[in-house]
Amino acid sequence: MGVQAELPGQGMTREAVIGRLKEMRHNDADWHSGRVWSLVYHVDDEHVRLLQEAYNLFFMENALNPLAFPSLQRCEQEVVAIAGRLLGGDGETTGTMTSGGTESLLLAVKTYRDRARALRPEVKAPEAVLPASAHPGLLKGMHYFGVTPVPVAADLRVDPAAMARAITPNTIMLVGSAPSYPHGVVDPIAALGEVALRHGIGLHVDACVGGFVLPFAAKLGYPIPPFDFRVPGVTSLSADLHKYGYAAKGASVILYKDQSWRNHQFFIAAGWSGGIYMSPGIGGTRPAGPIAAAWACLHGLGEAGYLRLTDAVMATAKKLQAGINAIPGLYVLGEPEGSIFAFASEGADLYALAEQMEQRGWHMDRQMLPPSLHLTVTPAHAAVADRFLADLAEAQAAVLANPALAQEGFAPVYGLMASLPDRGQVAEMVLNLLNGIY
Ligand SMILES: *Cc1c(COP(=O)(O)O)cnc(C)c1O
Repeated sequence: MGVQAELPGQGMTREAVIGRLKEMRHNDADWHSGRVWSLVYHVDDEHVRLLQEAYNLFFMENALNPLAFPSLQRCEQEVVAIAGRLLGGDGETTGTMTSGGTESLLLAVKTYRDRARALRPEVKAPEAVLPASAHPGLLKGMHYFGVTPVPVAADLRVDPAAMARAITPNTIMLVGSAPSYPHGVVDPIAALGEVALRHGIGLHVDACVGGFVLPFAAKLGYPIPPFDFRVPGVTSLSADLHKYGYAAKGASVILYKDQSWRNHQFFIAAGWSGGIYMSPGIGGTRPAGPIAAAWACLHGLGEAGYLRLTDAVMATAKKLQAGINAIPGLYVLGEPEGSIFAFASEGADLYALAEQMEQRGWHMDRQMLPPSLHLTVTPAHAAVADRFLADLAEAQAAVLANPALAQEGFAPVYGLMASLPDRGQVAEMVLNLLNGIY
């Protein structure tokens, strides 16, 4: 249907407006059924009702000025304090809530840049050393804030010695992921911490996707390497409440070792005719709903709730990994510690396999360098894991029996996008796609 650009002359009734919105949703991804492997982290309907009720209580408030809403100030302080404690912080650990992982990463980059400006004025062209597998939100932050990324190729996990070799007099920050999004493996944070201390450079740990899984998985007895503030040398950490924190969207935390770091995050305009303006993050007006819902989420689930949910997602992830490794030609990449991972194929076209899975009603996340398919396991997947594995075995057999499937549907498009050596050309194709979408 075409975009309707006309503002209705008369307002529609509430029923008509809501009816139209519901109609528009019929082609949307069906996350409720567990057939989508990313984007939505669903616990159950009861939990969603708690989030909605808390969110709606603060629907109209604005967290731009916490002094006007002490309730929000307290919610945010407690969310940050709970996250800090969970992630190995001490009485000095501090931070703020943000709108999501990307804002947390943007702020981390800005903080390291501004700290270097203040303490190392000789650095004129700041650089950041990060694993090539690190989340693009970091590259976005570096692009926005004039920091040159120095990516270090990672054989799934980055090599700390290679990270150390990439350090120059211009390096203002190091990054490690816990875990990396593409392969779900935790970088050697303890070794990166040693490198950071040796060179006197801060280390940001991107635990956006792992921050609310790994601590509970460790408590449950899964082998989780040290990755948080307990590691000497870690100076900041990001963790998304709206992923495995199971909170409403628009909620993450950026945490610092102590306030001397966070000082460089805040923005203050002390000479404005509109009064003193202060802002902790990227935006101005801040929705209050995500803050209240995050507080409600942490208190509604409690430690027992997170342990129960983590137990379920870890068991499902292990079952899926074993099942995938048992399908001829398919194998899990590396040794993922948490509940996200990727698998690849020997001898069959992976994008054709994805196409076959889409035909069987699964929404698949395709990756590249090397080609792989990505699974973010959530509580919704426990009930569908067996069905997924059966469909996957069938789809893989179909692709092995008929290599021509690699030329059908979107498979050749993904293949081309993944393998074109000229990445500038790919970016241009994607720019056209974006213009089409927006
Ligand atoms: C999801 C993710 C991010 C970005 O978070 P958004 O909430 O999507 O902005 C950053 N880092 C990692 C490792 C992630 O998985």
